[in-house]
Amino acid sequence: MVSVLSMSAPEFETWLAAHDEPAYRRKQVWSWLARGVSSFGGMRDVPKALRDAMEAELRVTSLRPLAVVQADKGSTTKTLYELDGGHSVEAVVMRYADRSTLCISSQAGCPIGCPFCATGKFPFGRNLLAHEIVEQAVDAERLLASEGRRLSHVVFMGMGEPMANYRAVMESVRRLSDPDLLGISPRRIVVSTSGLIPRIEQLAEEKVPVTLAISLHAARDELRDVLVPINRKYPVHELVAAAQAYGTKTGRRVSYEWVMLAGVNDTERDARELGALLKGKLAHVNLIPFNPVQDTPYHAPDRGAIRRFKAQVAEQGLNVTLRDTRGREADAACGQLHERIARSRQPVEA
Ligand code: SAH
Ligand code: SF4
Repeated sequence: MVSVLSMSAPEFETWLAAHDEPAYRRKQVWSWLARGVSSFGGMRDVPKALRDAMEAELRVTSLRPLAVVQADKGSTTKTLYELDGGHSVEAVVMRYADRSTLCISSQAGCPIGCPFCATGKFPFGRNLLAHEIVEQAVDAERLLASEGRRLSHVVFMGMGEPMANYRAVMESVRRLSDPDLLGISPRRIVVSTSGLIPRIEQLAEEKVPVTLAISLHAARDELRDVLVPINRKYPVHELVAAAQAYGTKTGRRVSYEWVMLAGVNDTERDARELGALLKGKLAHVNLIPFNPVQDTPYHAPDRGAIRRFKAQVAEQGLNVTLRDTRGREADAACGQLHERIARSRQPVEA
C-alpha cells in the first residue's frame, strides 16, 4: 500500500480529487500527521468517508519499528525501523531543556566505510527515499507530542552519507521545513558529511540554508585517507575550501566534527594541524569522544586526554566544544543498535 507521505502535495491533491474531496483536505491530513496522529481514524475533522478511503488505500507510514531503546534516564530514545524491502535504519530522539533533536538516517548502511564507524562495517543496503527520511521525523514528532514537546532540530548524523543520497535528502529537507508539515526551519537542520565536494558546491547553490557539518577527524591527508577514505578522492584542504565557500555564501558558520580516537588523532600535533587548517575561519570545532565499536582497533581517550586536547585546540584560537555523549547507553552512534540486533537476532524490549 502507498504511504501517504510518499505523495507530493500535487500528487496527494490529485488522489483527493479522484475521491471527490477538495484540495484543502491535504493540509488537514498533513497537519494531523505533524501533530502526531498515528491513524487515519484519529483525524477527527476529516469526513468519515475520506478517513475510510485513506484507511483502505493508504498507509500512515512505511516505517515499521523493530526495536525501541531508552537511555540517559529517558531523555534519549532510539528506534530501529524496518523499511519496505527489509533493510533497517535508526533514528535517535534527544530531549533537552530548550529543544528536542532528532538524529536521522539517510541510507541503510553507508558506502564510505570509515573504519571507526559501525554503519560503515556492514554492507551498503540502499538509499532512503525522501518520504522514508520524513517519516522518521513524523514518528519522532508523534513520540514527542505525547509528552507535550515539539521536534525542533534535525541532524543528518544517523546512518548513511547524506551527500551520497543528495536528491532525496534535499527533497526531505524541503518537506521537513514545509510549514504545512513539520515547519522545521533549514537553519535548525544540520547536514553532516564525510566530504563529497561536488555535492557541497551544489548545496551552496540551493536556496536552503541548512547548517553544514564536516566530519573532519584529521587535518592531514595521510591520516584522513585512513579515517575517512573518501579523502583520497577529495583531499582535506580542498574540502575545507568548499565548506568555507558554503559558509560564506549562506552566512552560516560551518561545524567541523572530530571523533576523538586515543593515540590516533588526539595529540598535540593534531591540534596544531587543525589550528593551521582552520585558524581565522568562521568555523566551529565539535569534539566527539569515540563511542566504542566492536572489532575496531580504536579506543576513546580518557577524560584527561580529552580535556588536554580541547585546551590545545582552543590555544590555536579556534572555537571548540565537546559534544555530550548522549545516547551512549543506547548504542547511539550510527549503526550500533542495528549491529547489536543483527548480532543477537533477539528483539529488544521497549
Ligand atoms: N556520514 C555522515 C553522517 C553520519 S555520521 C558523516 O560521516 O558525517 C555522523 C557523525 O558521527 C560523523 O561525524 C561520524 O564521524 C560520527 N561517528 C561515527 N561513528 C562514531 C563513533 N563510533 N563514535 C563517535 N562518533 C562517530
Ligand atoms: Fe558513513 Fe559517516 Fe559512518 Fe563514515 S562516519 S562510514 S561517512 S556514516
